[in-house]
Amino acid sequence: MQLANHYAALPQHFSAPAVLQPVKAPRLVKLNTALARSLGLDPIWLSGPEGVAFLAGNRFPDGINPVATAYAGHQFGHLVPQLGDGRALLLGDGVDERGKPFEIQMKGAGRTPFSRRGDGRAALGPVLREYLVSEAMAAFGVPTTRALAAVSTGETVVRATLQPGAILTRVASSHIRVGTFQFFALRGDDDAIRQLADFALERHYPELIGRPDRYLAFFDAVVSAQAELIAHWMSLGFIHGVMNTDNMTVSGETIDYGPCAFLDEYDPRKVFSSIDQGGRYAYDNQPRIAQWNLARLAETLLPLMDGDADVAVGKAQEILMAFPTRYGHAYDRHFRAKLGLRAEREEDHALIVDWLTLLAAEKADFTLSFRQLSEGALAHDAMPGFGSWHARWRDRVAREDSMDAAQAAMRFVNPVVIPRNHRIEAVISAAETGDFGPFEAMLAAVTHPFDDDAAHASPPRPEERVWETFCGT
Ligand code: AMP
Ligand code: MG
Ligand code: MG
Repeated sequence: MQLANHYAALPQHFSAPAVLQPVKAPRLVKLNTALARSLGLDPIWLSGPEGVAFLAGNRFPDGINPVATAYAGHQFGHLVPQLGDGRALLLGDGVDERGKPFEIQMKGAGRTPFSRRGDGRAALGPVLREYLVSEAMAAFGVPTTRALAAVSTGETVVRATLQPGAILTRVASSHIRVGTFQFFALRGDDDAIRQLADFALERHYPELIGRPDRYLAFFDAVVSAQAELIAHWMSLGFIHGVMNTDNMTVSGETIDYGPCAFLDEYDPRKVFSSIDQGGRYAYDNQPRIAQWNLARLAETLLPLMDGDADVAVGKAQEILMAFPTRYGHAYDRHFRAKLGLRAEREEDHALIVDWLTLLAAEKADFTLSFRQLSEGALAHDAMPGFGSWHARWRDRVAREDSMDAAQAAMRFVNPVVIPRNHRIEAVISAAETGDFGPFEAMLAAVTHPFDDDAAHASPPRPEERVWETFCGT
């Protein structure tokens, strides 16, 4: 087991070394063997005693010196100058089989210098939830952190109730957040901001390094990546739930699956998170929040920009203001594909909006409605107004394709299975009694989300509905 740790080699105040805090009785719950292999890691070693001790944070192989990274962040709009990895450790980094850089991070391995009042531990439920949702997102093709392994610790963690402890090991192209930039900006540390930006450029946007305006270009690239990401979320009915600036990456990958959820019935104002009282992170507010977070990133980068400060602000502002347009294009592209449309036509946006308006009025299931459309399974009188919308859609499809061809294409972008909350809850309840069968079954289903799967497709029955999700990891 060998990993570099380039982030740990940045100046001392970027991170803090970890202290080993072994757990009592580690047991491997799940290893993502395909992912391990793609990273050049040996799944046989990882699932053996040394590997499990490693994945439990009990023993780190020579040369692996984990660190907790420093970051700040706006939580629900309120600035917290020091957050940092309070229960996460960066183990190291490498390059995967396709030449893409990756970092490995462990969540729940114990207290760090950034833990504040937290215990640095994680509970089994949230670990399994993140495993399932992040792997589903990867299967949808959404940029995301990946789950490499879950280990149960044999210990109990104290939350609202006593819960079994667990550790998640996850993989990301980096763990640099908007909040990481804010950490240094708040301290007026321009050198550190430049080092961080250079590090992020080299890792994520190497094609921009040679440009004289590379920091502006970096901002531009992050704006595009986030516009693309949020549009993709929206097309799947995904609600992140805690889009604080410390939970937004500069790589454009989804990170930190806490109180996240997928829409069942289509309701654009939907909020699940128990702590999101004002609906700041509601489904349809996500693009606005992304832009707000990106403004916070822009502020941190201004000191790096050469020349007249007003000119730099003007240019950054211009890029920021382009977010809604970029997002709008990405949104329409995703939803056109969901409706089986290939060419870009003026009238398509209205067709998308009108369809969603029907779903909202009917409180129809977002995922299943798109899938039924893909299967020609909706009767003309399925809902009020559907007949006339369907006629418009059919005419629009006919301008470029047969309905059969369009629907075949739609079945590759409209999932059958999403990780629905009521299912996740059932999986967690079983796992807490030691039965991981439902977890395995659900993982198999959500990682093949476009395959027909009657057992995992169904929306919650009224008594199964989950009304609220929680941060409590
Ligand atoms: P999150 O809600 O996961 O985005 O975390 C927000 C901040 O709280 C981060 O700085 C975390 O490291 C920290 N945090 C969350 N849970 C714990 C915990 N159990 N122990 C220590 N720090 C935590
Ligand atoms: Mg976080
Ligand atoms: Mg976190």
